[in-house]
Amino acid sequence: MPELPEVEVVRRQLAGPLVGRLITDAWAHPSHKFASGADAVGSEIEALRRRGKYLIADLDCGRDLIVHLGMTGRLCFADVSETREALLSRPVNGPAAEVMAPNAVSVSDPYVRAWWRLDNGETLCFHDVRRFGRIAVCDRGDYRGLPTLAAMGPEPLEGGLDSATFWQASRRSSQRIKTQLLNQRLVAGVGNIYADEALFLARINPSARAISKPRAERLLAALRDVLAASIERGGSTLRDYYSLEGAGDNQKYFVCYGRVGEPCVRCGTELRRRVLDQRSSTWCPQCQRR
Ligand SMILES: [Zn+2]
Repeated sequence: MPELPEVEVVRRQLAGPLVGRLITDAWAHPSHKFASGADAVGSEIEALRRRGKYLIADLDCGRDLIVHLGMTGRLCFADVSETREALLSRPVNGPAAEVMAPNAVSVSDPYVRAWWRLDNGETLCFHDVRRFGRIAVCDRGDYRGLPTLAAMGPEPLEGGLDSATFWQASRRSSQRIKTQLLNQRLVAGVGNIYADEALFLARINPSARAISKPRAERLLAALRDVLAASIERGGSTLRDYYSLEGAGDNQKYFVCYGRVGEPCVRCGTELRRRVLDQRSSTWCPQCQRR
């Protein structure tokens, strides 16, 4: 699932083409998860922001157009020069499959759940095979229909969050630290990948509860390091995430996530995996002792 770095990479790529554009036409799948996307017709996009894993386009009518990529969602421009048959005939297996993933789709592609036509003739598409994504148009800041966004914690890469505040917030919950990182209220935008990576770098066991102030400082610093490094590398592409420019390559630099059974890069101990609060966690039993 795309996390903060992947969504931020997409935001940076889309801001130039979208900001200042008028949405002249739109279509959305009738599912309640997507339908309100069509309500953005007639509005101009004034800014493109990100909160956690949500992309938010500020519309000049005072509303927000919100997109959550879910697991398989991606935003791309329709390629008017390419027929649907040509897109479907692309190779889907073999080593070239990753780089062959379409960076532009046809609006008649069955996995396009919404599209927005712009006043320069371009069409932005939301393509989502598994339909875990979400689109909403709502009054600016009124996120009652999106409870995770409404309760979103502070942005880790923005100046407003200091380590003392982060530590105090973590102590207000009795949940495991890994679970707190995933629930979006302690800090925005972290999912399984960057939680495992940051806990490993900070030498904190994912099951830990009530971490100390020095550990909280290390964890926040590690989160900032792994998130910022991934943005620089275009995000992590495991299966479904592609930015408009293709695959990111941050996955080549993972030190913990997805490396169960492999030796720890610090001490050589075999990394372990266990399900904690319904989510898989990988950690080094030596470096990340309870
Ligand atoms: Zn280790």
